[in-house]
Amino acid sequence: MKAKILSFFILTFLFFSCSKKDEASLSFLAMDTFMTLKCYGKEAHKVNQKVKAAIEELDSKLSVTLSESDFYRLNKAKDFPVKVSDDCSELLINCKKISELTDAAFDVTLYPVVKEWGFTNGNYHLPSENKIEELLKKVDYKKIQIDKNEVTFEPGQMLDSGAVGKGFAGDKAIEIYKKNGIKSAMVDLGGNIQLLGKNPYGKDWKIGIKNPLQNEIALALKVSNCAVITSGGYERNFKADDGKTYIHIFDPKTGFPVDNDIASVTVISDSGFYADALSTALFVMGQKKAVDFWKKNCNFQMIIITKDKALFYTEGLKNKISACTDFSKVTVLSAL
Ligand code: AMP
Ligand code: MG
Repeated sequence: MKAKILSFFILTFLFFSCSKKDEASLSFLAMDTFMTLKCYGKEAHKVNQKVKAAIEELDSKLSVTLSESDFYRLNKAKDFPVKVSDDCSELLINCKKISELTDAAFDVTLYPVVKEWGFTNGNYHLPSENKIEELLKKVDYKKIQIDKNEVTFEPGQMLDSGAVGKGFAGDKAIEIYKKNGIKSAMVDLGGNIQLLGKNPYGKDWKIGIKNPLQNEIALALKVSNCAVITSGGYERNFKADDGKTYIHIFDPKTGFPVDNDIASVTVISDSGFYADALSTALFVMGQKKAVDFWKKNCNFQMIIITKDKALFYTEGLKNKISACTDFSKVTVLSAL
């Protein structure tokens, strides 16, 4: 009897100590946003700490405000080339590829324009047409040359990783989890979700997609092993003296914040970088061009919610998506 009681206590102790060791959650601030890391498996706490350290290190390279960062040094440079880290050159090479692919709807050199409108420091204002025209001359990703770890562009050009940094960081996080034997993790980098494997119960994760038009969840998505990244005008915007609301996503061709039929775009992809870059670029394109783009490059899934409350989603999400609100129209997009 004594042995039975003892083994009961040992088993109970093992169960609780294992379940404690096997699950970890860690929240912190980085990249100007609130991040939460959740992972399940051996040494989960330790691995989460490793991921946090890697994201913080990446932030110290990509930040435009930290004086030692690659981006800070690039933006202040008068002499080129500038030596940068492996992460920075990898990110810039990928940025150029996305610009080519999206006909420059995405452009990492937009920073002088974004800065002028006040989106970097909160001093929001409507610049003059002349000022925008002058700054647009500095916007051209084609002028960036990357030779291994050396970067060259025209003096006066400036870069910012705001549209891709969190997706890129999510990819690095997933790599670290995999290397450390973790098979189930969810990374929430300020609403950018990146998933490794299935949830700890062996099922798809359930992700909520915000309604960009009012404060509620619009859609529930059941997915695994992917990034789910949304660009929305509701995330950051200001009302100018002319009474109009201007958002933080810009059209690199006009130097103006985007004002088209889209309220939000969500991209679901294996790669966080790709999903982050594309969600921004597809937002710039508007609904029709975004759908045409997907038909030509259908290696990702996409959800668009328009300002008139119509929902478009790609056929790969059938049976994975359920509406939590009413839409004016629902269209399932097929590649053919
Ligand atoms: P996201 O929320 O991922 O769509 O990224 C928006 C951020 O990326 C903005 O705050 C800007 O810093 C930057 N940005 C805005 N428009 C663009 C664009 N068309 N291409 C590249 N970066 C952009
Ligand atoms: Mg983005």
